[in-house]
Amino acid sequence: MKRNLTIGTLALSALSVMAQQTEQCPNIIFILSDDHAIQAISAYGHPLSKLAPTPNIDRIARDGAIFRNNYCANSISGPSRASILTGKHSHKNGFLANWNQAFDGSQQTLPKILQENGYETALIGKWHLISKPTGFDHWMILNDQGDYYNPDFITKNDTVEYAGYVTDLITTFTKQWLQTRENDKPFFLMMNHKAPHRNWVPAERHYDLFEDVTFPLPATYFDDYEGRFAAAHQEMNIYRDMYEGHDLKMVTGVNSDTLLYDPWPHAFLETMTPGEQQRFFEAYRERNNAFHTTSMTEKEIAEWKYQRYLQDYLATIRAVDESVGQLLDYLKTTGLDENTLIIYSSDQGFYLGEHGWFDKRFMYEESFMMPLLMQYKKHIQPGTQVKGLTQNIDFAPTLLDFCGIDIPDYMQGESFRELTDTGRTPEDWRRSLYYHYYEYPGFHSVRAHYGVKTERYKLIHFYGEQHWELYDLENDPHETDNIYGKRGTEQITRGLRKELIRLQEQYELPEDHLKPEKK
Ligand code: CA
Repeated sequence: MKRNLTIGTLALSALSVMAQQTEQCPNIIFILSDDHAIQAISAYGHPLSKLAPTPNIDRIARDGAIFRNNYCANSISGPSRASILTGKHSHKNGFLANWNQAFDGSQQTLPKILQENGYETALIGKWHLISKPTGFDHWMILNDQGDYYNPDFITKNDTVEYAGYVTDLITTFTKQWLQTRENDKPFFLMMNHKAPHRNWVPAERHYDLFEDVTFPLPATYFDDYEGRFAAAHQEMNIYRDMYEGHDLKMVTGVNSDTLLYDPWPHAFLETMTPGEQQRFFEAYRERNNAFHTTSMTEKEIAEWKYQRYLQDYLATIRAVDESVGQLLDYLKTTGLDENTLIIYSSDQGFYLGEHGWFDKRFMYEESFMMPLLMQYKKHIQPGTQVKGLTQNIDFAPTLLDFCGIDIPDYMQGESFRELTDTGRTPEDWRRSLYYHYYEYPGFHSVRAHYGVKTERYKLIHFYGEQHWELYDLENDPHETDNIYGKRGTEQITRGLRKELIRLQEQYELPEDHLKPEKK
């Protein structure tokens, strides 16, 4: 920014005001990946991530804050994204499920408020809210879920297919936008990765990355779902429900270039060039041949599928980690990191074999939790640990707070700025979280449910068939022992039910959302 260099007292005080204003208006870069579980971010310390570390994503935790108890309001892509944008629960922002519905882009959102307050706003990558983005000066989004290879990008003007790997393209377009910005406004930039979303196709350079790694099997991989009706009736089991061709890249026989079951070839092999297809089959050849020439029991095949799933899922994350590294390096080189708040999160957590599952949806910890790392030099101390209960409805209020912009009353989340600034949880901070999943019937057949979580306990109501579940997370961190209705839990249950009703009233849940869907 060019300014008159005559430095008098007046000019100095004007500069000081400018500095304060700049101080109040950080740039914001929000990196949102899709289905990235905290088990797969090494800053969180899970044993899996030690075998597949994420050193660049970890830099944000090292230089800023890591959130140990951050959760979503509804564990599925569109609804979580809608909560992030609006600061509201699903029943208030209207995006309940990934069914045939579109986000109501006419409502007030975080990017619109930032725009109104002098920010330049941009969105690059996955959107997945069906309606066209609003509140962004510049946007370039993937079509629906997006493709891993040679994806289409949609802009205000057209749809163009770009050659390359989706994660790399999103990184390139993000850097291009940063490099070609012309004005001095502060900016809000969302870089939304497709990875590591299903069907986990790594970049060519990463096909073999974890080929020889054996990942530890979760203790609950062969869960019998005893005492848990909804868990017993889902369809998201790795060894029963994964598509062997589409998801697991399994082929019909020795040296075959024909995949087993793949219901969506148009979103997978058919987006690759013939050369890319050939290199894909070659990369899996030896492993697939070994599968067909080795005698295995059913249990061994189930474990084999877990390894294949993890190898691919974690390999797609390597490209995301490289992307974050490139972006952080760029910010550092240009000095932009000094006044930029950088966030890394994912729209929800994900099952990496716990309970035998992939996917999300349940209020159990692995899918309910969202990773959250946040760096903002001068404001957030390096190595800050945030332990208070936070939720995706808090993101918008918190960012407005960091920008010195009033938080609108309709937002249901709270600013957690004090938690990041001090590293402590204030006495009057929330002690419980509300959750509500709606998408039933739907993919993976997870029953609709709502629930309340405190630091130690979780009460869930699957209201279609009237099943209740109660977990003591201290004694049962894997949530396999449903103690609802058991002797000695009466008082805990009463307290949690009361809290659940209080939250439903506080968040103004409509009466008909407490009843099962009419089929
Ligand atoms: Ca997702």
